[in-house]
Amino acid sequence: MKIIVAIDGPAGAGKSTIAKKLAEKLNLVFMNTGSFYRGLTLMLLRSKGADAAGSGGEKVDLKDTQAVIDFTETLSFEYSSEGLSINGENVEKYLRTDTVESIVSPVSAIPEVRRILNKKIRAVAEKTGVVCEGRDMTTVVFPDTPFKFYLDASVETRAMRRFAQGTSSLSLEEIRESIEQRDALDRNKVEGSLRIAPDAFYLDSSGLTIDEVCDIMLAEILGKGIYNGAEGSGKGC
Ligand code: C5P
Repeated sequence: MKIIVAIDGPAGAGKSTIAKKLAEKLNLVFMNTGSFYRGLTLMLLRSKGADAAGSGGEKVDLKDTQAVIDFTETLSFEYSSEGLSINGENVEKYLRTDTVESIVSPVSAIPEVRRILNKKIRAVAEKTGVVCEGRDMTTVVFPDTPFKFYLDASVETRAMRRFAQGTSSLSLEEIRESIEQRDALDRNKVEGSLRIAPDAFYLDSSGLTIDEVCDIMLAEILGKGIYNGAEGSGKGC
């Protein structure tokens, strides 16, 4: 049985940063499951004549959900420490473009697409052992893992963190609005909506440093006494 550490939480709560650190500490593969939805979105855009980065093609018709589902079935997904490959191509560098960002949320809201991608996510995790993060890792994909976390932060904190990254041309107020919109979409999906699993360890990271959050989570994982393969076990982050 491979170790699966599952982390859910809203956009901008620091899940990726923390999951990456924990994966290093625990010698597991870090898996950003949003990448699967982003990768599928990129390939849908390309299928409409877009360039490698997903720009310039015709509009993807998301109302034709059956076509999206059929297309999803044709793709071969692989995930390693280098990130996501689709049909043998590492697509990591194209996953965070504006065009992908603009339609990934409705793509990820199609229930049958979620079921197909969840199977692929489980297959990777069971092969390698992972620290994975997403929206429904603890509630739908890996409800049986003993290592479940919900990482939260206030909207203000999340907006400030994104703003401080300096990668967005939006104002602080605009970033805050866009985070609130994404929260609403994530919480209202028909399947795989963002919820706090009753047995997840809840942690609000507002006011905590990355290392403090990582230390708390590492202590929780090691404290269960099930996992003993951690490098530097007990040393913290
Ligand atoms: O986490 P990230 O921003 O990369 O997620 C990209 C998109 O995929 C978001 O719209 C998010 O709602 C969706 N997603 C999802 N289920 C997951 C991970 C991400 O629906 N497990």
